[in-house]
Amino acid sequence: MQKTDVCIVGAGPGGATASLFLASKGISSVLCDKAKFPRDKICGDALSGKTVSVLKKLDQRILLELTASSIQVPSYGVKFFAPNNKFIRIPFLKNYPLENAAPGFISKRIHFDNFLAEKVKAEPAIHFAENTELKFFKRVNDEWLIGTSEREIVFVSKILIAADGAHSQFARQFGKIEMQPEHYCAGIRAYYSGVKGMDDENFIELHFMKDLLPGYFWIFPLPNGWANVGIGVRSDIVSKRKMNLRKLLPEIIEKNPVLYERFSNAKLEDEVRGYGLPLGSVKRKISGDGFMLLGDAASLIDPFTGEGIGNAMMSGMIAADISSKAISENNFSSDFFQKYDHEVYRKLWNELSLSKRMQNLSRYGWLFNFVVNKAEKNKTVQETISCMFNDLNIRNRLRQPSFYFKLLFN
Ligand SMILES: Cc1cc2nc3c(=O)[nH]c(=O)nc-3n(C[C@H](O)[C@H](O)[C@H](O)COP(=O)(O)OP(=O)(O)OC[C@H]3O[C@@H](n4cnc5c(N)ncnc54)[C@H](O)[C@@H]3O)c2cc1C
Repeated sequence: MQKTDVCIVGAGPGGATASLFLASKGISSVLCDKAKFPRDKICGDALSGKTVSVLKKLDQRILLELTASSIQVPSYGVKFFAPNNKFIRIPFLKNYPLENAAPGFISKRIHFDNFLAEKVKAEPAIHFAENTELKFFKRVNDEWLIGTSEREIVFVSKILIAADGAHSQFARQFGKIEMQPEHYCAGIRAYYSGVKGMDDENFIELHFMKDLLPGYFWIFPLPNGWANVGIGVRSDIVSKRKMNLRKLLPEIIEKNPVLYERFSNAKLEDEVRGYGLPLGSVKRKISGDGFMLLGDAASLIDPFTGEGIGNAMMSGMIAADISSKAISENNFSSDFFQKYDHEVYRKLWNELSLSKRMQNLSRYGWLFNFVVNKAEKNKTVQETISCMFNDLNIRNRLRQPSFYFKLLFN
């Protein structure tokens, strides 16, 4: 049995980031994962600007190493396709975090998560236990007894950080977080090679198709000419419309003339796989007596874009900071850890709540067609939309009827 101040369950982007930030503050931790790395995670594989900025805060050498590595392709923007197949290209922010680093990346999770795991392994302050599935948690006298089973307690810790993903047992048991279909998304991902017509600057593609709204179909470029292709639709809608996303994927490609041509020489490289996305479209209590929930365990995925990696890493960074304060003040109470909820939502809630509204608006296919048709013909509209995705204040305008009024007469 090992004693530690902080035990982290799950070494995905959330857990790995928390352990690395703790180490940078001189705090040792135990990081456990049931898998042995490299391990895969079903995902769209797109790493947003937030991922880049957290990595930069951690250590800009790590960001430069990722930039130079062949496990990723740099991405400079997003293409939004309206149901009528017309699209607008929206470049990401121009003030890049580092001169040589792109504003976003796309990297298969088997590679990106292993990249982080290698950083963890090189850090003497982190005890990284792979192949260790934690199943038993009990709080006794201000400490967590943590075990692979009730009979086998392996760690005793003051703080428990649950970063065990969308199916977190800990979040259900102690955080009382239930799966709510209207705040949850079903996603599937497929790897293809040979998709034609990919963007020269690796813009990611979001296709808002009538039958999937408010969900979408995506194509994200990957290294070596591969692409991550997938669909995400809210779980209540999947049930209501009795959708079978795995069946739908090839059907969409076959029925859409543009996609049919682009996939005419494409090869499916792996089986189509699915996983859940717990959305951050409602605020939840994400901490308690001696614990904090991170990333998917805390349901922090952006309800419009599906971005969860950056939010998981951001929550990992904040959890490390709050842990360090809890240790120095010797306070592990539920009241103290409320600071974590406060800080996570202070950083993320504006964006999450706006994305919730955009998810609601994106139910309307005609609205997409209208905005994209306008943008296609009018540079000012294009620039407004471009800024909108980079600037929360401008994105806020989407809520105001005057925005659409101006679009009409522009
Ligand atoms: C289809 C799909 C597409 C997506 N596309 C994108 C995208 O393009 N961009 C983006 O930013 N986000 C995307 N997401 C969301 C993203 O994958 C998640 O938000 C992200 O992985 C969350 O990171 P995490 O560290 O919280 O959890 P995870 O990455 O899920 O890591 C959890 C870890 O915990 C381990 N674990 C679980 N239980 C235990 C246990 N009991 N004991 C020990 N270890 C345990 C697991 O092995 C795993 O390594 C997508 C999700 C899906 C499903």
